[in-house]
Amino acid sequence: MSASPDLLAALTERLGAAHVLTAPEDVAPYLVETRGLHRGHALAVARPADAAEAAFVVARCAEARVPVVAQGGNTGLVSGGVPQGGLVLSLARLDRVRAVDPLDATITVEAGVTLADVQAAADRAGMLFPLSLASEGSCRIGGNLATNAGGTAVLAYGNARDLVLGLEVVLADGRVWNGLKALRKDNAGYDLKHLFVGSEGTLGIITAAVLKLFPKPLSRGVGFVGLADPAAALALFAHLRDRAGHDLTAFEVIPPFGLEIVLRHTPGATPPLAQAHGTYALVEFSSTRTDAPAAAALEAALAGAIEAGLVEDATLGASEAQNQALWALRENLSEVQRREGGSIKHDVSVPLSRLPKFLATATQACEAEMPGLRVCAFGHFGDGNIHFNLSQPVGMDRAAFLAQWSRFNRIVHDVVHALGGSIAAEHGIGLIKRDELTRYTDPVALDLMRRLKAALDPDGLLNPGKVVVPEGGGPPAL
Ligand code: FAD
Repeated sequence: MSASPDLLAALTERLGAAHVLTAPEDVAPYLVETRGLHRGHALAVARPADAAEAAFVVARCAEARVPVVAQGGNTGLVSGGVPQGGLVLSLARLDRVRAVDPLDATITVEAGVTLADVQAAADRAGMLFPLSLASEGSCRIGGNLATNAGGTAVLAYGNARDLVLGLEVVLADGRVWNGLKALRKDNAGYDLKHLFVGSEGTLGIITAAVLKLFPKPLSRGVGFVGLADPAAALALFAHLRDRAGHDLTAFEVIPPFGLEIVLRHTPGATPPLAQAHGTYALVEFSSTRTDAPAAAALEAALAGAIEAGLVEDATLGASEAQNQALWALRENLSEVQRREGGSIKHDVSVPLSRLPKFLATATQACEAEMPGLRVCAFGHFGDGNIHFNLSQPVGMDRAAFLAQWSRFNRIVHDVVHALGGSIAAEHGIGLIKRDELTRYTDPVALDLMRRLKAALDPDGLLNPGKVVVPEGGGPPAL
């Protein structure tokens, strides 16, 4: 089959003309990543309605040797879904919740269900699906699994990987692997589902998943805490974890510059604390017990921390509306950073005990490199993950600043590597960190990754050029 006309005719016959997009204005939204930083190109966009149609598309593309780039909500932050030729396979129409089973505590969903809709379906059944990201209204569960998304509930419930029991996957040759098991114990051979979780569309296309559900918390308490510095934040984290265990469901850190810009750009937002502090933490306790309200437990634990001299000041949400207002200070941070001009981002993790050292060393190194640069290091401190973002100096040209992306990546990633951390904590590798992965990964691990890719996708047609490339390199990274 020759690449374009025959392939497109076959796809159109099966999917219908409305679901094989070729007009430039229809294809355009699928070519650019969420921040508009990178733009790709593609032959067409196919929008299958179910797993059988998705398998048909992949099989025809395999015959025609045309690459396939899966897309869910296209909210990924590493340009993993930006096509560099080939066909975009949008999973958006696979949007059915197939089953909710409260007794098994599972939900079976197709890949195109948005994360918010998975949460809502669980909620309607009186259960919790805990994965939670600021992009949850648009990202889709297949994309969440393909990137092994993290978010704000990792501390208590783990990453997307920890929430999956079974998968249905279209393989590179178009065969469908039905691994939709709902088992909590299954040691029958290799655990294939975990190969596909976090593989960013390079090993297979996820079409459905069985996910774990949890009892819904009956109460939550949210506090906003002023602290002297990141070392005090770490001490507070240990203090709260020791007291609350699994009930400590979030521990997010916001630097003074982060709070300043959230307050500046959020209409109606007011400072949560009377005085300025060296750093801030947003903490959340949740409880499933009627006899142990989370807010009271949080208040007692923070009182103990104040007595121990760990905390300078703290405020607690007195209602659910106030809890949400405190959370908004954290959740709006990514968005308001755009309003401060260009920002160079690093999504990294280090062992918890090394977080203060990482923050001090990386901040000093970046500020020394470019006076006036504004470090905005925030995020999921409690699981060791920091979004070490750099806002451009006031008045500097945005494009000139963004042109320094690789230079600052090297500085920050060197510090991360030296501290035994990861250069990709939760957003993945995609295109923009591909060469960094090659640089910082143990050669044996890299060799295993390349062998896995060759075994599952021998012709290199699934999202080529992303995550790992054959030895000697692939197409240029961004
Ligand atoms: P896409 O962007 O469409 O795709 C991402 C990658 O997965 C691509 O490589 C694509 O090819 C592949 N892919 C997509 N669907 C499939 C499939 N069905 N099968 C195989 N491969 C597939 N991420 C976090 O981890 N934590 C956060 O806290 C977080 N916060 C965010 C906040 C904002 C405001 C934004 C814009 C993004 C945030 N992200 C976060 C990043 C992003 O939302 C997540 O990576 C999300 O999981 C991507 O889902 P998606 O459906 O948009 O995937």
